[in-house]
Amino acid sequence: MKAATPRELTHDERRVALTPDTATKLIAAKLQVAVQAGAGAGAFIPDAAYEAAGAKVLSHAADLLQDADVVLKVQAPMPSEVELLRKGSVLISFLQPATQGDIVKALAARGVTAFSLELLPRISRAQSMDALSSQASAAGYKAVVMAADRIGKLFPMMMTAAGTVAPTRVLVMGAGVAGLQAIATARRLGAVVSAYDVRPAVKEEVQSLGATFIELALETQEGEGGYAKEQSEEFLRKQRQLIGEHIAKSDVVITTAAVPGRRAPLLVTGEMVRGMRPGSVIVDLAAETGGNVELTVAGKEVDVNGVTIIGTRNIPSTMALTTSQLYARNVASLLLHLVKDGAINLDFTDDITKGSCVTHGGEIVNERAKQVVSAA
Ligand code: NAD
Repeated sequence: MKAATPRELTHDERRVALTPDTATKLIAAKLQVAVQAGAGAGAFIPDAAYEAAGAKVLSHAADLLQDADVVLKVQAPMPSEVELLRKGSVLISFLQPATQGDIVKALAARGVTAFSLELLPRISRAQSMDALSSQASAAGYKAVVMAADRIGKLFPMMMTAAGTVAPTRVLVMGAGVAGLQAIATARRLGAVVSAYDVRPAVKEEVQSLGATFIELALETQEGEGGYAKEQSEEFLRKQRQLIGEHIAKSDVVITTAAVPGRRAPLLVTGEMVRGMRPGSVIVDLAAETGGNVELTVAGKEVDVNGVTIIGTRNIPSTMALTTSQLYARNVASLLLHLVKDGAINLDFTDDITKGSCVTHGGEIVNERAKQVVSAA
């Protein structure tokens, strides 16, 4: 069975879905592995490293994809790539089935069995495959590093002969995987950190990282599977009112709030940004799904009365060396879960296989993706 990884075509994507380390793992499981020349370049992995691991390096994506039983990617394939996939082949990547209706439809029509890492159930057995977590964790770390780079002050308290410097105050909104990593990173840099989430279950985790958990007089918004549920506009309005004073007191605000499959909730209005001290920094990790901050511009850094709002897209791609290593391991774990004796063996009674599969046998098999396609 042949597994292949082409170069990513999305312009800001530096990550790669296969590393020499995971190529070795797949080869040990009796797979043949091929990669397109230059596929690892964005992650600083030379072709020679793949060859040394036993993978074939091919120049053209067409030769690679037309021959592959399994294709491993980071971003959803482009239409030109879908046309090259073989009927009955397997694709593993981020697919964003909630928004990429056309690509999902094309994959089904092509007879590809596609697995989306966003749909993988967050159960203990699937932890090694959990690419949302591995990438969110890196993004949470980087958000703090970006804020520390932009803010005109030190994070830690410092006592010097010239006087004492007060520590930076960081507020993290949304204490899921990215938020918790942001808290840990900001604490390591010496900041005074507070955090808020609509799920009170995270209070102890926040406190165990040395941050203060902000409790607002609001009803909890815990939904299914440990995620937040979609909140009403009335709830968000009250939340903005109550969190306003905490935002005004902060030097750095990092927002990571999300509800699966929905637009990011609006947590910070333009007026709240104008209430912050000049020199403050906001990093909006939800920039790509609509933004938690009203004035965020996805892919840009904007200045509002001296407050910098960072809306960088695809932050995991900016740490491609580490995020590729983690992502490739997630992908290899899922693939090996689907393989028995060197061949694909799909068991749709298994939660991981069933939960993450989007298209199979010419059909869209995921309910949410079906709704998106029929609504389009
Ligand atoms: P996410 O990216 O969907 O959301 C990020 C955070 O935003 C969540 O904590 C959510 O509660 C919060 N949020 C939503 N609306 C908000 C609002 N209005 N104000 C403030 N915060 C708001 O979530 P995630 O980081 O992917 O993880 C969500 C959950 O899944 C967590 O409980 C996490 O521990 C759990 N998880 C479990 C496993 C596992 O293997 N068991 C693996 C990964 C994650």
